[in-house]
Amino acid sequence: MAKPRVLIVGAGPVGLAAADRLLRNGAEVRIVDRNGARTILSKALAINVRTLEHLEASGLSDRLIEAGQRIHRMRFFGDGIPLATIDLSRLPHRYNYLVCLPQSETERILEEDLNALGGRVERETELTGFQQEGERVAATLSGPGGWEETATVDYLVGADGAHSVVRKGLGVGFPGSRHDLTWNLADVELDGPYGDDEATMHLQPEHAMLILPLGRRRFRIVTTVPDALNRLPVGRVVGAPSWTTDFTTSHRIVDSYGSGRVFLAGDAAHIHSPAGGRGMNLGIEDATVLANRIVGGGLETYSRDRRKVGLSVIGQTERMLAMVTLRSPLARALRDLALRTLLPLEPVQARLRPRLMGVAD
Ligand SMILES: Cc1cc2nc3c(=O)[nH]c(=O)nc-3n(C[C@H](O)[C@H](O)[C@H](O)COP(=O)(O)OP(=O)(O)OC[C@H]3O[C@@H](n4cnc5c(N)ncnc54)[C@H](O)[C@@H]3O)c2cc1C
Repeated sequence: MAKPRVLIVGAGPVGLAAADRLLRNGAEVRIVDRNGARTILSKALAINVRTLEHLEASGLSDRLIEAGQRIHRMRFFGDGIPLATIDLSRLPHRYNYLVCLPQSETERILEEDLNALGGRVERETELTGFQQEGERVAATLSGPGGWEETATVDYLVGADGAHSVVRKGLGVGFPGSRHDLTWNLADVELDGPYGDDEATMHLQPEHAMLILPLGRRRFRIVTTVPDALNRLPVGRVVGAPSWTTDFTTSHRIVDSYGSGRVFLAGDAAHIHSPAGGRGMNLGIEDATVLANRIVGGGLETYSRDRRKVGLSVIGQTERMLAMVTLRSPLARALRDLALRTLLPLEPVQARLRPRLMGVAD
């Protein structure tokens, strides 16, 4: 059988993961990105167990684990007072931890592996439109100086992020709604009781704050309100942040992950809040599943299967966000009481671990 020719639009983590797996599976791959260079931003940090499973066959999991920080515990504080700690290391799995690694590093590792396989990202190359013609897709690419090319391929993969041109070209709905929150993140050095192998959730009356390790006493602080740096309930910030930004979030999922020979993966298909750290992970899962099915068969149920997983993850993420942003004093008191009394119990932790670590859809 002839090698399938695949054009991937977008060289974020999802497009890179798809290209890597497709090349390994023997497909002929082009991957284009309109940007001139990879992101230098740390954006998505948490790499979960499911992603490590999906990237294991490529040998990429070992490299991501080696480059990142392993998280063995997740601690909860209410108003600065310790409530409970979940011991992630008791997950009965070979990966009994989460990995924290800046997205820029994850992308570097994925792209280096792609290059080692003979693949190359064509940068400053933008998809402007496409047409499905029988068993082929004709995609229009353009670049600096106004050059234009029509690439004819067997499959087009839209890994082109939240504002996906491929999604718009398919005309599929992207229903959902915006969260009424302005988030803030800061990557900074901290002095205080924060370990390089643990995540900390501070549940404050006005907001929630998650702290994740970046290594060598540097941490990511994410808050559900602006001004993360001035809201640390325990410990203190040392020096200036290497990156800080405000952002807003929505939760949306496409009505269909593809049509004909054009498929969507990653943020092009779903977006949600960072609660639970699932966004990039869910996209990398889409990428490897799609790449395996383009070569091995099963594309007819790709949309149905991935949408089911996406809906479930968005549901979990929304429930988690609602739980950490409770405003009513009574509801917060009950939540904190439940965390203090129930969370230390091993049967409760055993139920929560797979969700927190991304192995329960
Ligand atoms: C501030 C911030 C913080 C975040 N924090 C987290 C977090 O803590 N946890 C988490 O899981 N996620 C987080 N995310 C989300 C995470 O970064 C995304 O889920 C992830 O990048 C999605 O990967 P992707 O490859 O689908 O899309 P992207 O990373 O958006 O990549 C899409 C690529 O497509 C390219 N492109 C777009 N249109 C075209 C076109 N027409 N032609 C060619 N190329 C095109 C773009 O240049 C881009 O490189 C965060 C995002 C931001 C911005």
